[in-house]
Amino acid sequence: MEISLLKKSLLKGLLVCFLAFMVSALSAESAKYIFLMIGDGMGVNQRKATEKYLNASGKGLVMEKFPYSGLTVTDSLSGVTDSAAGGTAIACGFKTKNGMLGILPDGKHLQSIAEYAKDKGMKIGIITSDHINGATPAAFYAHADARKRYSETASFMPQSEFDFFAGNKILTDKQENDSTRALAEKGYKIIRDFKDLNVSEKGKSFLITSMPLAIDEKNNDGVRLKDILGKAIEILDNEKGFFIMLEGAKIDWSGHNNDLASGAKELVDFDNAVKTAYEFYQKNPSDTLIVVTADHETGGLQLSDNISKLPDSVNSQKCSKLTMHAVLEKYKKEKKSFEDVLKKLEEFFDLKDLNDSEMTSVRQAYNIYMDNKVEDKRPEEVKKMYGNKNPLIYVCSKMADEKGGYKWTLPNHSMAKVKTSAVGVGAELFNQEMDNTQIPANIKKIMK
Ligand SMILES: [Zn+2]
Repeated sequence: MEISLLKKSLLKGLLVCFLAFMVSALSAESAKYIFLMIGDGMGVNQRKATEKYLNASGKGLVMEKFPYSGLTVTDSLSGVTDSAAGGTAIACGFKTKNGMLGILPDGKHLQSIAEYAKDKGMKIGIITSDHINGATPAAFYAHADARKRYSETASFMPQSEFDFFAGNKILTDKQENDSTRALAEKGYKIIRDFKDLNVSEKGKSFLITSMPLAIDEKNNDGVRLKDILGKAIEILDNEKGFFIMLEGAKIDWSGHNNDLASGAKELVDFDNAVKTAYEFYQKNPSDTLIVVTADHETGGLQLSDNISKLPDSVNSQKCSKLTMHAVLEKYKKEKKSFEDVLKKLEEFFDLKDLNDSEMTSVRQAYNIYMDNKVEDKRPEEVKKMYGNKNPLIYVCSKMADEKGGYKWTLPNHSMAKVKTSAVGVGAELFNQEMDNTQIPANIKKIMK
């Protein structure tokens, strides 16, 4: 008697569990359209500084308005991560060593979230503002233990059979073939002019386009990430949905160069693409998930209490430090006078009324810079202070940074946590602090 009662209650319990499982499985949220957007080197303070810069003109970042967000841990098995290990964690859900793409230190190949989505019948798009086989995009299709063996990483692109690629030209090792023939043989249409990217083109396409830094874009008429994403959405839209990874690659460059004005404008450019995705979400709210994250912070950017002048500091800078450096290198060859160089620096940074001590440091930097090629006579502590940077740019930008209320502390990546924001179906899963490996695991849960 007792035994049969026990059996009955057990059966009842099992039935309840099964029904609960079925209900949850049937009502489980799932998204047909997934955007994973990665700002390379986009730390929490880079986002805050850019938000502050935009607020001054009554605007703000779209990604900051997303309803769910949390901090994300970025370190790799090597410590401070590079973009290969960071990309692998976000793409494949596993920690690996720096330099490795879609692979574990023991050589085991990992399946990326893009490959998983492809297996499920979704269409796949990979978009970046830098080289298409740079570390971040390559983490989604390549499996190699050295990110810099470019010809090898590129060879995974045709094999992936992903539907859409867009980015700067394929990097290769020396004179080797750049895989475009292999791509064409696999049915990819290679497009070298954005205008030729046809929305009615439903086959696989590969857009090669180079994008200057947003701050150096002269007439604002060049092709930007948002334009490519807009076309990609139209090309990839289909019944089974799509997965699009889009990288804002050069936020990282600006961090390495300790160049906030370039970084903020690059971050706005990336956010414009986030806006394009967000507008798609607004039309398809019950089917879409957007996740915005970063692989790591770059530059150890610190913000003080006094950042009210930060927008002025960003607006005053006329071009990227990379462009300034190129101009100054030319001036150096031409042995331009201090007055000429000073005039150019004042123009770059919109410097006005330098005081005596500021003028002295610019003159000192001029002497060091112009002499540099002959012999580096700089005292050890000065060398340490200037690092590998152009001393003229270093001295002037330090003045601009101080006025803006911010400070860079590193020329490299840091271990600072980044911020992940999400909107759409299942976005609440991202409303907590997590490891970067959790990002693809969460997306898998939400994929239809
Ligand atoms: Zn970097």
